[in-house]
Amino acid sequence: MIEYVTEGLLNLIFPLNCRICKKPIRESKGYSICEDCFQTIELIAKPYCVKCNKPLSLSPDWEGLEVELWCVDCKNKHFSFEFSRSVGKYSGVLKEAIHLFKYQGEKKLAKPLGNLLINYLKENPEFRELIDLIIPVPLHKDNLKERGFNQSVLLGEIIGNYFSIPVKEGVLIKKRLTPSQVNLSKKEREKNMREAFLVQRPQEVKEKNILILDDIFTTGSTVEGCARELKKAKAKNVYVLTLARSV
Ligand SMILES: [Zn+2]
Ligand SMILES: [Zn+2]
Repeated sequence: MIEYVTEGLLNLIFPLNCRICKKPIRESKGYSICEDCFQTIELIAKPYCVKCNKPLSLSPDWEGLEVELWCVDCKNKHFSFEFSRSVGKYSGVLKEAIHLFKYQGEKKLAKPLGNLLINYLKENPEFRELIDLIIPVPLHKDNLKERGFNQSVLLGEIIGNYFSIPVKEGVLIKKRLTPSQVNLSKKEREKNMREAFLVQRPQEVKEKNILILDDIFTTGSTVEGCARELKKAKAKNVYVLTLARSV
């Protein structure tokens, strides 16, 4: 309560402007992107690859046909997870919001971002029913110390609370400090993530249907690193959900 009052007062004295559209935010919820801008987030829509969710373009002959499509990448390589889904495209407002959340400490953005995941799972109940537990992609302890929080854990807690799905931290850990993936090629990313993760408590994943949760799916090398270890530890099925996907 006091927090809201203080925020409201601060907002009167120093009106907060939306980071994207620059318009004043009338009702501050403690984050700097307005509701209107959130509405512009571009969702991943069909047609897409059934394995990795990469949006595909179809020739007009194929339009409207109910076929399972695979992208070229997935035809040529093996992913250990059953399938991956992402809410939106990693661009515009969603990209900006993830950056503010992750690198600039706007932890309160976990709420609207978490809501995007909740809405996605509400609209895809069959996906939700496949899940026994959620494992947020872990950070290496040095990175966690530096950032102070794990963005995927915050998101995991929001959807776990909403749907009453257990969220497990510490079952899977990141044992190796990996260089930043930003400027790495697809091959280098895969090499970077190989054996970076470790299942610390295999009894908790054995025979379970697991949802790996992360903020961004780029080439899939991070979630694949996690999925591979979970499968080695006898997880039954592994699914992936991320907020954004680079396209
Ligand atoms: Zn705005
Ligand atoms: Zn694919």
